[in-house]
Amino acid sequence: MTELKTVGVVGAGTMGHGIAQVAALAGYEVRLADVAADALERGLVQIEKSLQKLAAKEKISNDDAEAARARVSGSTDLSSLTDVALAVEAVVERFEVKSEVLSRLDRLCPEETVLATNTSSISITKLAAETGRPDRVIGMHFMNPVPLMKLVEIIRGLGTSQATYDAVAEATRVMGKTPVECNDAPGFVSNRVLMPMINEAVFCLFEGVGDVEAIDEILHLGMNHPMGPLALADLIGLDVCLDILRVLHEGFSDSKYRPCPLLVRMVDAGYLGRKSGRGFYTYGEEPRRSFHPARGYA
Ligand code: NAD
Repeated sequence: MTELKTVGVVGAGTMGHGIAQVAALAGYEVRLADVAADALERGLVQIEKSLQKLAAKEKISNDDAEAARARVSGSTDLSSLTDVALAVEAVVERFEVKSEVLSRLDRLCPEETVLATNTSSISITKLAAETGRPDRVIGMHFMNPVPLMKLVEIIRGLGTSQATYDAVAEATRVMGKTPVECNDAPGFVSNRVLMPMINEAVFCLFEGVGDVEAIDEILHLGMNHPMGPLALADLIGLDVCLDILRVLHEGFSDSKYRPCPLLVRMVDAGYLGRKSGRGFYTYGEEPRRSFHPARGYA
């Protein structure tokens, strides 16, 4: 990789805008791209708000916030990423969409550019094969919310070179995060362990073993998890959880990963969690209500 000064981020949603923010705070010039103008605008506004919040809490200075904001430019055109040394894609968790974005980046970006994917579960090796540079493709799995979470799971594809790994691990540290290495397998380590737990919590709700609050409280108080699995699913996005479970289910051909029918139904209904205002809980209204499989948001 050439000297890393400019980072491209594709997708300005939950993850993309957070990645753009931490990269800008680390001093990189950031080109943020999204196909949807409204999603791009929302992402830029969220970066602005988040930087203001950090400055108000005196975690960063007003000058740092201002400088970081000025380093982020947004576009709906992927060709705005032609000069980046590292491109991180954070578009929806669908193989066809990610492979299309990565092969376009492969054509647009200089030969040395490293293409990283923030996929939660899709094979890095398979995505890398869609490009002409599998040695410079790697998984860079940030956690949600990106500005707060320390871990970046760095996933090597079968052909990822050591130089690519080293450069990406270093960029991760510069962004104030801790890189942890693992190999390519469905769900990697993080989601292979997390998603079956979330799915099992949804099964408990589906079967009437407990209501939303009870399930979350048991894991929160009993296992010392900072939040319960259903609240966490709302934060991640129910559609994202379902997509990952499907990758695990297909990838291992093992029925233990089958998504709970209630999760499928909630995604069909558009109850996607925080981002749609409704998931296992409601958001943006007082008092907060929770979901019941038979009665909805009673
Ligand atoms: P999101 O739905 O919030 O955002 C996705 C964005 O990608 C949208 O703004 C959409 O307009 C944009 N997009 C779709 N197709 C595009 C294209 N062809 N070109 C450019 N932009 C395009 O999703 P998210 O939650 O930010 O997830 C993004 C990725 O990060 C997924 O791979 C997901 O698995 C992964 N991830 C998510 C979480 C989480 O907690 N949400 C955590 C870790 C990793």
